[in-house]
Amino acid sequence: RYKTIPVNKSDAAELKMLTDSYNDMMLMLKAHDDNQQAFIMNASHELKTPLTVISSYAKMLERFGKTREDLLDEGITAISEETTRMKYLTEQFLSFTKVTHSDTSADKEHIPVVQLVKSVAARLEKVFKRNISVISDDTNPHVYVYPDALEQLLRIFLDNAYKYSEKDIDVTIKKDTGKITIAIQDYGIGIPNDELDDIFTRFYRVDKARTRKSGGSGLGLSIAKQLAENNDIDIEVKSVIKEGTTFTLIFKEEVRDGEAE
Ligand code: ADP
Repeated sequence: RYKTIPVNKSDAAELKMLTDSYNDMMLMLKAHDDNQQAFIMNASHELKTPLTVISSYAKMLERFGKTREDLLDEGITAISEETTRMKYLTEQFLSFTKVTHSDTSADKEHIPVVQLVKSVAARLEKVFKRNISVISDDTNPHVYVYPDALEQLLRIFLDNAYKYSEKDIDVTIKKDTGKITIAIQDYGIGIPNDELDDIFTRFYRVDKARTRKSGGSGLGLSIAKQLAENNDIDIEVKSVIKEGTTFTLIFKEEVRDGEAE
């Protein structure tokens, strides 16, 4: 036996509100699900290429490895290179997942910009075997960000400047009307202007074939975008085809050492 519960006008309005927010929630969950599914599909696709190479070389070595020394060398080199690639890709996937679920366990810190940029540049110069000049005014600015975020951002842009150009790289740090900017400039292939928004989309690449050769994952800039959002940083990009690209990090407000506590 059920009792009929009379629904008066205000109950009906409340019921409608509840139904609406339930529907909104379901839509959000679905979008989240679709998003996650797309990520898994893209990630699996990226892993498939190195896996295919590894498995075909493994099969070849199984059959001819004992008798053909030339194939042995080729096979081992290929397997080792593709394993490195898979390691890089899985690290990028993890990094992307980590930054999109921002870590609130850490506190932001005051970071001396020039000092950090110089130390990252010095380390990468050795890896890239190219000059990275760091130019700054003498204001010695500090920014207030999550530890490691700035270093991770610099690495992403410097890594791209290295991959997509063959020349030295310039980093310019400035403090101007309360804003601190770090510009990473390369003199490389450039990015078509109508693709400047797309490059921040995960797995987007301007030229798939060329990027695969340069060893990218298509995730670097989407990680950078998320890191920038988590840390209140704006990113600006300017590019001229065959002349080069400049990515500028803009820190909205300057917080001097010891001020924000
Ligand atoms: P990837 O790992 O492929 O480099 P990113 O997300 O870092 O992925 O960059 C996305 C795409 O943007 C790259 O594939 C490349 O086509 C383009 N791109 C990024 N940085 C530069 C740059 N400094 N010069 C030219 N093209 C760039």
